[in-house]
Amino acid sequence: MNTLYTQKPLHFLSQKEEHSQGRLFDEPLHSFRNPYQRDRDRIIHCKAFRRLEAKTQVLVNLLSTNDHFRTRLTHSLEVSQISRTIGRYLGLHEDLIEAVALAHDLGHPPFGHAGEKVLHEWMKDHGGFEHNVQSYRIVSKLEKKYPHFDGLNLTYEVRFGLIKHRKKSKYKSLPLFSEFNLDLEPILEAQVADLADEITYSCHDLEDGLLLNFISAEELLELSFFKDIKLKIKLNDIKKKEIEVYQIIRILLETLVKDVLIHSAETITKNHIKDIHAAVAHKTRLISLSKPVRTQLTELKRFLHRKFYRHDKILEMTQLADKCLSFLCNHYLHHPKDLPQYTRQRFMDQPSKRIICDYVAGMTDRYAIVDYQSKSSLSLR
Ligand code: MG
Repeated sequence: MNTLYTQKPLHFLSQKEEHSQGRLFDEPLHSFRNPYQRDRDRIIHCKAFRRLEAKTQVLVNLLSTNDHFRTRLTHSLEVSQISRTIGRYLGLHEDLIEAVALAHDLGHPPFGHAGEKVLHEWMKDHGGFEHNVQSYRIVSKLEKKYPHFDGLNLTYEVRFGLIKHRKKSKYKSLPLFSEFNLDLEPILEAQVADLADEITYSCHDLEDGLLLNFISAEELLELSFFKDIKLKIKLNDIKKKEIEVYQIIRILLETLVKDVLIHSAETITKNHIKDIHAAVAHKTRLISLSKPVRTQLTELKRFLHRKFYRHDKILEMTQLADKCLSFLCNHYLHHPKDLPQYTRQRFMDQPSKRIICDYVAGMTDRYAIVDYQSKSSLSLR
């Protein structure tokens, strides 16, 4: 495989900049950046991206003394790096992949999926809350950086890539997404970013779980994948635990990525996919893992749910998230004057619960905790 890295087997399926369906508001082309590089830069320079630094991936910021586990920002950077590796090898548009990967979690509220659940429950009679939809709202509406339009005015391909549309039937009823044909699969660059997201979090969550001793190395041997790995790296033989863990994760990541590269190229050849239109019209995603490796990854994800995401310490944080965000949402509903002026101004054209939800969802863990403590005069613990 090493000798093949310059082959770019899917280059003929790469999105072409000149075929972009463009931006909602026309803008002249930039003199030295292509449209997807420009989108990537707009994403990196937006407020929602900077806030990812203090938003939870799995472990809540500020409620732990460990500074080494993933935040939503470092997760997004890792997704971008792994996506670009996959896309570059396959010959897809790397700048487009990077833009989608960096923006894919912009809509996450504080406290990760626990926060998402609280907001969804609070919004259940008003359309609910879902982080993919929120990512789209941020880039198309909530960021205010330009005098003539709201949002970042990203290209169609990045906007479409952001919604991932795994929940097609639900998304089809949303007027927000009426510009997209949700009968199609995402473009290949977005499929790369989406699968890289799943690979990335599975690997780094396992690493964090092992390094924090939420998961023991012995427990890994329940999984078929690690029974194989044990043959290669003799668990517990290495004295330094961290090195041992990094070694396990390195092998896992490399195995998963290599499988995506080989399997995706084979699938496209086998199905005689000749152009981009055929790629998105295909009945299943073409960027994918082989069946045996998909089964192993599913097994790993179930293991992480049992051993890490439902660990007592994580569930304790979930309860704190619930307490904090429920309080803040209800507080702002009954005391709208406590909202910043620029947020209150939006009450003119939208139901107030959605505006409060946007405001609370935009908070970092840190801001939410401080705001809760100042408004409630209580400590979160
Ligand atoms: Mg993600």
